[in-house]
Amino acid sequence: MEKKEKFIRNKEKSIQLIRFIVQTLFALLCIWIGIEFSQFIKFLETNGTAGSGYRPPGVEGFLPISSLMSLYYFLQSGIIHPVHPAGFFIFIAIVGMSLVFRKSFCSWLCPIGFLSELVGDFGDKITRKIFKRRIKIWKYLDYFLRSLKYLLLAFFTFSIFSMSEIALAYFLGGDYNIMSDVKMYYFFANISQTAFIVIGVLFLLSIIYRNFWCRYLCPYGAFLGLLGFLSPTRIKRNTSTCIDCGLCAKACPSFIKVDKVITVNSDECTSCMNCIDACPVENTLELKYIASEKKINKKLVALGVVIIFLAITGLGMITGNWQNKVPKDVYIKLNKNVNSIGHPMSSEDIKKLNEESERKAK
Ligand code: SF4
Ligand code: SF4
Repeated sequence: MEKKEKFIRNKEKSIQLIRFIVQTLFALLCIWIGIEFSQFIKFLETNGTAGSGYRPPGVEGFLPISSLMSLYYFLQSGIIHPVHPAGFFIFIAIVGMSLVFRKSFCSWLCPIGFLSELVGDFGDKITRKIFKRRIKIWKYLDYFLRSLKYLLLAFFTFSIFSMSEIALAYFLGGDYNIMSDVKMYYFFANISQTAFIVIGVLFLLSIIYRNFWCRYLCPYGAFLGLLGFLSPTRIKRNTSTCIDCGLCAKACPSFIKVDKVITVNSDECTSCMNCIDACPVENTLELKYIASEKKINKKLVALGVVIIFLAITGLGMITGNWQNKVPKDVYIKLNKNVNSIGHPMSSEDIKKLNEESERKAK
C-alpha cells in the first residue's frame, strides 16, 4: 500500500444486485418448468385423465449430453433432430454466451451455480468466523481435483464424437433419449438412498468449500471454461494504479489470484465481476476487449448474457424447433415401462453402425 497512498476511489456501481436478480429470475423459471413437467408426468401416469398434456420444452435444458449429441448430429447432417429441439437451442445459447463472455452461464444463469453460490456465501461466513479466512485446498490436490471434470468431459466428448451420423440418429430417435427427461424426473422424485447420500455430501462440501461441484466435477462447466478461452473479453488489471490491496483476489469465488496477474486467463473465470466491484481504485480492474483494450460496461455483460440466451432460444421458437413432435400417446405408452428402458447402445452397436455409415459413404 505504501507506493500509492493516494488514489481515486472507485465510485462505479456494483453489478452484483443485477446479477442476483437475473440468477433469481432464471432459477424461478426453472422451478416453474419443474412444476409444469411434474403435471405432465401426472398426465402420463393417469393415461391423460389428470395433470397437463403440456410438456415444457425448457426441461430439455437439463439434458446437456443429449443436446451435445444433437449438435454433433446437426454438424454432420445439417438436420436439427426433432426429439429434443429445445435442448439443442438452449445448448447453443449457452455456448454462445461462453464464446462472448467466457463461462458467464455459470455465474449468471445456471441454477446449480446459483445454489452453489448461495450456500458458498453462507459457508464462507462460517469458515471466516472459525478460521479467519476461506478454506482453500492444497494447491496440488486442487489441480488434481480440477482435472476430474476434464476427464469426465473427455469421456463424454470422446464417446459422442466417435459416433457416426447413423449411430447418432439411432440413439437420438430411440426410446431412451425420448424418455430421458422423464427418467431424470423419476431419478429425483424416487431418489435412491445412495444417490441421496452422494447429493447430500456434495451439498455439504459446497458449503465448506465454495463451488465444490462446479470447480471439480461439472463437465458442462469444464466445457464452457475451455470455450471461454476463445472469448474476446478478459478481466484486466492496471498495474500502474493498483495499490496491491488484494481485495479482488479475496472477492473472487473462483480463487483466482487477480491481484497477481495483468490479464485473467483462467478457465475458472465466470465473468461474475465480483473482483471489479471489490476493487477500491478507479479504472484499475476492468473487463476489456482483448484486441482493442476497450473497457466493457458491466451492464452490457448483464444485457448481453440475457439477450444472447433469449435471441437463440427465441430463434428455436420462431423456426418451429421448440416443441418436440413426439405424440402424447407414445409418451403414455413408453411411460408404462419407463424403468425397463435402458441405454440402447453398447460400444459394439456403435461400431456396427459406424461401419454401416462408412459403407454407405463409399
Ligand atoms: S476473476 Fe473476477 S470475474 Fe473472474 S471469476 Fe474471479 S471475481 Fe469473477
Ligand atoms: S486490482 Fe486488486 S489488488 Fe489492485 S487495487 Fe484493485 S482490488 Fe486491490
